[in-house]
Order: sequence, then structure tokens, then C-alpha cells
Amino acid sequence: MKKNMALLSLVAALGLTACDKPENQTAGSTADAENKVYNVGVDNTYPPFEFTQEGQLVGIDVDLINAIAKDQGFNINIEQMDFSGIIPAMQAGMLDIGMGGMSITDKRKETVDFSDPYFAAGVSLVVADDNQNITSLSDLSDKKVVVKNGTVGASFADKNTEEYGYSIIQVSDSASMFQEVTNGTADALMEDYPVISYAIATGGLELKTVGERLTGDDYGISVLKDKNDELLNMINDGLANLKESGEYDKIMNTYLD
Ligand code: GLN
Repeated sequence: MKKNMALLSLVAALGLTACDKPENQTAGSTADAENKVYNVGVDNTYPPFEFTQEGQLVGIDVDLINAIAKDQGFNINIEQMDFSGIIPAMQAGMLDIGMGGMSITDKRKETVDFSDPYFAAGVSLVVADDNQNITSLSDLSDKKVVVKNGTVGASFADKNTEEYGYSIIQVSDSASMFQEVTNGTADALMEDYPVISYAIATGGLELKTVGERLTGDDYGISVLKDKNDELLNMINDGLANLKESGEYDKIMNTYLD
């Protein structure tokens, strides 16, 4: 009971939704594997990887994990949350699988195991589209850079703040980050290039990417470290099958040009 209460407060703290599952469906339950529902955490909104369209949660991550689950014969339940809450929720036993355009990093590998990579990404520097003064990191001296908590962009910004002399604003979701630059509160932001390109193309945002890509990284599907070899194997097998059958390309083509 105490444990349940602790989990419930964590649910509240992380702003998780849909916690109305019956007891036997919670992550870490000892229920028969056949009936087990794996809880998957994704970002609140991270188009084209996860977003709501006509009331439905869609996107590359959503379609991919649904297709993998179908291919491998397991059940899933998808939860949306702040990106920075995904790994902590896995550690608390509330999630079995973490996605959300999650980049494979050495730091994260200390707590999670990643599947084979499923998408090549990397962080871009982004400014307002009428900004003529910032064309690279070297123009950021005394400027304000907004980043999203817990992301590769945020750690890149942290590591380089001294060298380039900017200050950092932290927000918890991408939409707020874009807004801080379009409304002039911040001068620049750091976001994964597939996400910012998609947002500019579809959202009509008055933003543009500048300079070289700041990082190059791959997205992977994560499970809690050393505890989920069987699940990780299913995910990798499913991913390989989808690549072979053409389903993977079909999903990509649904969301990308
Ligand atoms: N790919 C980045 C990371 O893993 C950003 C992910 C996100 O904002 N959802 O940190």
C-alpha cells in the first residue's frame, strides 16, 4: 500500500495521465507474461514522433512500437509525459519501455539498455527567421538560449555555456521552447533537427536553423538496464522484421517527405 501511494505521488509529480489501469496491468507486475501489458512512455508532444491528430495519438514512435508489439505478440499501453520524466518513471517501475525520440547516449546507458538505433538525428541551433546576427555558436555571447529539460540539447547547452558566454533558460516541452524564441524572450534554442524542421514546415513557425549541426545521435527504444533482456530482444527482433518487410519505411513515409 505504501508503495502504491509512493507511485501515485510520482504519477502526480511527473504529470502522468491515464493512471486508471487495473492493478494487474501496472509495470513490474508478476502477472502471466501473456496478459502482461507493457507500459510505454513517450514525450507529451514531439511531432513527428508523437502528437495528437484528430484526437488520436500518432507519430513515428507510436506507429513503430505498435507495429513491433503486433509483430512480437505483446500488448502495450502508451503514456505521454514530460520527456525528462520518462527514465525516472522507468526506474520507479511505472514504465517498461521509454521512447520519445530518445537519443542513445553513454550517460543514459548507465540506467537503460537501448534497442538497435531506429532513427538518425542530432541537435540544431535555431533562431527567429528574421535574425541576421546569430549564424553560429560564436554569435551567442551574452545571448539567451532556451532548452528543454533533460535533453541532449540541454546537456550540449550546459557544456558549452562558458565557452560561448550565453545564459540558459530551461523549459519542459518543445512548444514552450519554440515560443520563447518567437516571442523574443530567448535569442536561440537547441532542438533535434527532424523535429524543428517538421515544426517549421507544418506549424508555420517563424524560426530557422543556422550553422552546423551541434551533435549527431541516434534514437533508440529503451528498457531498464540489465532487467529486460527478453523484452529488448523482442523489440530488436520486431524492429528488424519491420525493416525487412517494408513496414518501417511505410511508417517513415507517413510522416516524412
Ligand atoms: N533526442 C533528444 C534527447 O534524447 C530530445 C528528445 C525529446 O525532446 N523528446 O534528449
